Amino acid sequence: MSESPITPRGKDFATWYQDVVLHGDMAEPAEIVKGCMVIKPNGYAVWERLQRELDDRFKATNHQNIYLPLLIPQSFLQKEAEHVEGFAPELAVVTIAGGKELEEPYVIRPTSETIVGHFFSKWIHSYRDLPVLVNQWANVIRWELRTRMFLRTTEFLWQEGHTAHSSHEEAVEEVLRILDLYAEVSEEIMAVPVIKGVKTRAEKFAGALRSYSIEAMMQNGLALQAGTSHDLGQNFGRAFDVQFQSKEGKLDYVWQTSWGVSTRLIGGLIMTHSDDKGLVLPPKVAPRKSVLVPIFRKDEEKAVVLEAAAKLAKDLGAHVDLRDGMTPGAKFFHWERLGIPVVFELGPRDVASGNMVIKRRDTGTKEVIPQSEAVAKQAEILDAMQRDLLAKARQRMQDNTVLANSIGEVEEILGSVTAEKGGGKFVMAHLKDDPANDARIKEFKASVRNIPSVDLYDGPGKCILTGETVDRRVVIAKAY
Ligand code: AMP
Repeated sequence: MSESPITPRGKDFATWYQDVVLHGDMAEPAEIVKGCMVIKPNGYAVWERLQRELDDRFKATNHQNIYLPLLIPQSFLQKEAEHVEGFAPELAVVTIAGGKELEEPYVIRPTSETIVGHFFSKWIHSYRDLPVLVNQWANVIRWELRTRMFLRTTEFLWQEGHTAHSSHEEAVEEVLRILDLYAEVSEEIMAVPVIKGVKTRAEKFAGALRSYSIEAMMQNGLALQAGTSHDLGQNFGRAFDVQFQSKEGKLDYVWQTSWGVSTRLIGGLIMTHSDDKGLVLPPKVAPRKSVLVPIFRKDEEKAVVLEAAAKLAKDLGAHVDLRDGMTPGAKFFHWERLGIPVVFELGPRDVASGNMVIKRRDTGTKEVIPQSEAVAKQAEILDAMQRDLLAKARQRMQDNTVLANSIGEVEEILGSVTAEKGGGKFVMAHLKDDPANDARIKEFKASVRNIPSVDLYDGPGKCILTGETVDRRVVIAKAY
């Protein structure tokens, strides 16, 4: 048996993650293009599963898909002052095209609020044109300094929703509806528990009034911002002159929202569930739920086993691993590293006895079951695995969440935490939403993740930095 190619989590979390991604056929670094990755077949198939889950929910809430140009006139970004300030350092700019210097350079979209603003001003004139509820599936480029496959890449895939409304109230409803939708996909499909909340002013999206996020906890205790939903107020409406005539005949600027999740979700999924043997995928995102490995030595056995395997696999919807010249052991390792939730074994003795072996990826448990019960047993195991992975991740998040009542305590808990060493925590503390307070937390390289929508702790308390009363504890953590 070959030695596992996966570095154990306890030894080096960052290398473990890289190994799981590579050996799980999820992605590999595109070393020729700075900070980019090649998304491999297993990784892309997971993305397609996530796209399907999200897109169905967007459509069910009346959103429609559109596609916008990749290139944005540079002047567009300058129209919203905060937006350009936030994004300027991350922009890639096209200055030459068709062999000629362009009169006005284009930026490669880092996000599309500005170009959306332009088109909204053409599409929207009256309250009758509202709401506009659109979404785009696309790639974007942000020139990131420190990159890590899926979690932070310079080019990434995402969806960006853009909506326009006639009132702020309706826009906020939309922002929260999407936040709920993201939390639902994260928890129910990806089995990744999240904390919903509002970002501090210092951490909000450049150009937004308020930003909301879902925050997940990775196995090393670091936080991952898994999705964001922004209340843009009338900022982009003003910048791009998107005005509408209200029912009462008055002119007003539209209220906008934008929201996105990216291929980062896949990194979060991997860092939440995988183990020292490789990838673990919750059944609902696994592109392939089960594989059957036939076992035989002699040719006579082969014919009998393969015939029974084909029949069973058809009922189970399983893939039969027919590869020649590979031992069953090597095949088991292969599927284990790919995160296949259920692997069946079928040998000549099983065929004779009417049994087969079923193995569950997350727990590693093996069971001999009658073939006649295989379909029901598979469904039962997939269900249990989906449930148990969420419960385990919830428990981990709970076990690694602590309360702190002074800045000294927060610093002591988080100060020495690193992605590699682990030991990260969600520290719940009373902290006033003020950029100066965020800056103090940043001194030890932690950050305020969000102010939870629902207070799970002890209500109001005194800010650990200013002593002022704030209405609930915020989540402070080291983050990716
Ligand atoms: P934003 O437009 O900044 O609110 O980001 C939208 C979504 O994309 C959020 O879920 C972010 O966590 C995610 N995201 C931001 N930057 C990156 C990146 N460099 N790579 C992958 N995902 C990202």
